Amino acid sequence: MSEYFNVAEIFGENVFNDAVMQERLPKKVYKRLKEVIGEGKELDLETADVVAHEMKEWAIEKGATHYTHWFQPLTGVTAEKHDSFITAPMENGKVLMSFSGKELIKGEPDASSFPSGGLRATFEARGYTAWDCTSPAFVRQDAAGATLCIPTAFCSYTGEALDQKTPLLRSMEAINEQSLRLLRLFGNTTSKKVTPSVGPEQEYFLVDREKYLKRKDLIFTGRTLFGAMPPKGQEMEDHYFGAIRERIAAYMKDVNKELWKLGVSAKTQHNEVAPAQHELAPIYAEANVAVDNNQLVMETLKKVAGRHGLTCLLHEKPFAGVNGSGKHNNWSIITDDGINLLDPGKTPHDNIQFLLVLTCILKAVDKHAELLRESAADAGNDHRLGANEAPPAIISVYLGAQLQDVLTQLISTGEATSSLKGEVLQTGVKTLPDFRKDAADRNRTSPFAFTGNKFEFRMVGSNDSISPPNVVLNAIVAEAFSDACDVLEQAEDFEMAVHNLIKEQATAHEKIVFNGNGYSKEWVEEAERLGLPNISSMVDAVPALTTQKTIALFEKFNVFTEAELYSRAEILYENYAKALNIEARAMIDMAGKQIIPAVIKYTTTLAGSVNAVKAACGDEADTSTQTDLLKEVSSLLAEAKAALTALIGIADQGSSMEPGREQAVYYRDKVKTAMEALRAPVDHLEMIVDKEMWPMPSYGDLIFEV
Ligand code: ADP
Ligand code: MG
Repeated sequence: MSEYFNVAEIFGENVFNDAVMQERLPKKVYKRLKEVIGEGKELDLETADVVAHEMKEWAIEKGATHYTHWFQPLTGVTAEKHDSFITAPMENGKVLMSFSGKELIKGEPDASSFPSGGLRATFEARGYTAWDCTSPAFVRQDAAGATLCIPTAFCSYTGEALDQKTPLLRSMEAINEQSLRLLRLFGNTTSKKVTPSVGPEQEYFLVDREKYLKRKDLIFTGRTLFGAMPPKGQEMEDHYFGAIRERIAAYMKDVNKELWKLGVSAKTQHNEVAPAQHELAPIYAEANVAVDNNQLVMETLKKVAGRHGLTCLLHEKPFAGVNGSGKHNNWSIITDDGINLLDPGKTPHDNIQFLLVLTCILKAVDKHAELLRESAADAGNDHRLGANEAPPAIISVYLGAQLQDVLTQLISTGEATSSLKGEVLQTGVKTLPDFRKDAADRNRTSPFAFTGNKFEFRMVGSNDSISPPNVVLNAIVAEAFSDACDVLEQAEDFEMAVHNLIKEQATAHEKIVFNGNGYSKEWVEEAERLGLPNISSMVDAVPALTTQKTIALFEKFNVFTEAELYSRAEILYENYAKALNIEARAMIDMAGKQIIPAVIKYTTTLAGSVNAVKAACGDEADTSTQTDLLKEVSSLLAEAKAALTALIGIADQGSSMEPGREQAVYYRDKVKTAMEALRAPVDHLEMIVDKEMWPMPSYGDLIFEV
């Protein structure tokens, strides 16, 4: 039954990658395309025609019947419109399969059905998708057949970005340019291109599909809106890195195979902290490819689950009281000749270029903390960031002992003269090898941690595109580099100027560094004293998109125009209100049609039991247990019914409001509170009512019986 395969053979077999291009394209065309991809040169139609033709021939060999411009509008999911390769039937009644350069480079989906945040008037419904040749095309094979997918950017008729990819590509250009400027100052003449590299660790939950289908909340919103805690939670910590059960292992094997075929380098997999929670991490790739690949990872996780009788939940908080899911965004900047600007080397204290880069990043994160926080804002992620059970939503940077020591030296004397060394780890067991420990331990509580030769931004939600956080990282660091270059390029004495700048930046932005326990109460107080923002909800994070500081940043590097930023803010408010509205409606539906009727049935049984006892044993028989229970259930039932009625009124008012900030605030303050008021008595009832009568699977059923 089990099927074995050779990874090296299947890896990338469905990708129109460099090897395929080199093999299939005429030399001249291949060379030309490489220039377009590598150096950003303009693509001519002649080249595009040849590439399109070869791409089509290759795709047809893989069984493709259709092609699609695959893009990422601001809906949170990818979009595609499929066209088949067939052209009008010829006289002999046969069809030709064709695909032109024009069709490859440009598509015209109707933009009016995608969020634009007021950027596009309805009469200007035109939108364009444009081929992004820096992310390889691929053939997706599934039940719907095989389709050639062409990664594209999506813009309005007037050129405004309507998607996640366009600003990302723009931000990559910004960091490329500014990093090269900085490298040249240090005498580097060989590097031609600098690219941000990204490795996202994706967390997810798996639940049994049959049970999932019995939960309308999961179906409609991706998270449970009701649910009492099971007797056992994650307190035993026996799931994290625990042995992977066979059903899950079979699923992971399938996921990996699909991803490998698509050229996604799925590398690590393990169980996560919560029961039924898992993680998948690929090997890092260029930011643009990493973002696209992460979309494929999410799609594949969901698709393959169905085949195993499972459902994959990507929501940030599917179960209250149980660990949520995030996506650690590992980020670094690497040159085309392999230099990682975030590599400190063995002795960071005398790596002046690294110290400049590091203090620039401290400055960038300190200056734009609100914006970085915003880049991870999402209605689902509100349950993870700054909510009752979650770490505070304060941005701080973890450096670890070694870099902290260097920073302290810099600040106190202006010069760092030594670096702490990693010690030899002695296990005390002769047969185990002793090895050198890293000079810095890991810190799991920091939202922005230095981990060896990269930063790990951990606020991102499991369900979200990783484009926005990377756009922000690229842009804010580009800005800090640019500021530094402005100073250093003018300096008469470079050595002196760079030392001064490093010290100055270290001193001014030291406050953003925090190496302690980010989950502690003391940190919240300390951060407040330091003036670090603590933004606990998406609605309060969005304004960071349209501050003068942000507009100046993005306009300087042509990442976003002011109009694009305002439009994104509008879309976010609207998305927030919509998400909460769906949750409120789902609760109303479940409470009214399933839960309250079930509780009434239970009270009828209880009342029936009182009568039965009396009929059998006489009116004096003791039925106090039943009557006490009946009273308790009835009182909770009344509470639930009142809360339901209130929620209906409050939600109705919310949906009649104009979309925008005011509506979003209303949903957070009024609707969310009314939802909590309904959930409390219902969860209490779930613990009392006969399990056989409860109309849906419990938390225990969902997370312990996968
Ligand atoms: P962790 O121990 O933090 O859970 P994982 O191995 O799960 O580590 O994930 C680390 C991620 O960081 C991987 O996707 C890995 O490829 C990526 N990564 C490693 N080095 C870099 C780098 N220089 N730049 C960006 N990402 C990197
Ligand atoms: Mg990990």
